[in-house]
Amino acid sequence: MNLAKLLMPIALTALVPHAALAVTGDKAEFKKVADDVYAFIGKRNDANALVVVTAQGAVLVDTGNNPPETRILQNFIRSVTDQPVRYVVITQNHGDHTGGAPLFAPPANVIVHDRVARDWASWKPYQIKSWRKRFRERADALKNVDPTDTVLSFKEGVTLHLGGKRIELIYVDDPYNPGDIAVWLPQSGVLHAGFVGYIGRHPDIRPDYSHGTTAGILKQLEVLVALRPKVMVPAHGPLGDAKDLHALADYLLLAREKVRAMTAKGLPLQAITREFQMNEYEGWDRENHFEWLAETVYRELRGEGPQIVPVSDREVKGTIVRAEDEGRRLLVKPNSGPDLRLRVTADTDIDGAATDRSRLKAGMKLSAKYLVPEGFNAALGYDVTELVVAP
Ligand SMILES: [Zn+2]
Repeated sequence: MNLAKLLMPIALTALVPHAALAVTGDKAEFKKVADDVYAFIGKRNDANALVVVTAQGAVLVDTGNNPPETRILQNFIRSVTDQPVRYVVITQNHGDHTGGAPLFAPPANVIVHDRVARDWASWKPYQIKSWRKRFRERADALKNVDPTDTVLSFKEGVTLHLGGKRIELIYVDDPYNPGDIAVWLPQSGVLHAGFVGYIGRHPDIRPDYSHGTTAGILKQLEVLVALRPKVMVPAHGPLGDAKDLHALADYLLLAREKVRAMTAKGLPLQAITREFQMNEYEGWDRENHFEWLAETVYRELRGEGPQIVPVSDREVKGTIVRAEDEGRRLLVKPNSGPDLRLRVTADTDIDGAATDRSRLKAGMKLSAKYLVPEGFNAALGYDVTELVVAP
């Protein structure tokens, strides 16, 4: 009997973490993680950021969840350097990572992957309006500026050599990588892992491949694990290190194996999404991600491309019954018809009695335009494009 083989299942079980909920504190923190390198740790698992201070300006990686958070981040930066933010690097093209860029750029340049630059170039007028007025103190500075006007983009990878610091931007190519990158500081061993930096949280991977695929993420993890980072800044949550990258790789391999086994038994997709679970990871945040993850893996294993969902525009007038997550999620009572769940994104163009989504409150009257994906499980609510509120 091969002893290694005999031990393997036991070793695997022992490796599975029984971590308590990994949620960050009630206030954002700014932590020195190496000389001239600071991690911004978002409150309650809000998006993280990384700051590198050099004699030739500061480099900011990601920009905070909401305008108030981005201003806190800006104050943290001012507390450690007189240097201006010269570059803003975006690790993933989602509002909680990109939304704060207009507080710094211009004069800062925004650095993104080509795929992200292409997406920004295709923005609709409401998105550009929302971007220009996200920070009222920047209204004049951004009056005639387009989001792409300050953008530097790259295809394969780029290294910044700034004031003696090396900052490597790493893109791992994959047909469905939406432009997610990692930022590596070889001199200090600090890594901002971007989207694939996950700690104690079930990953948000969707059948439309808008966050990439499990295969693509495994490719990225392989590259990042080889760097052996001493400090790993995840997209959200507390700081980790190389072992957390390994943990996510193990997680994804197990998830793929489960879906593969159910597919091999001939189970239809509906049964797979119903039965799929990752109970080995009890205590991890966001179990509501299981259905999408199972369906994504199912598509990948069958060699299918992304799910394409037709979207239609709707309008509503009504009253906000509940505003949760600092205005990100609204429960709305329309003037007629059943209650409606809406998602206010970083792209939402907000007018009237609220300057940003964190000011939205129960009792406000609203009129909103929103997007309804046809035949799609929009459990978190419909995305709002334009929103006008009155007290
Ligand atoms: Zn995020």
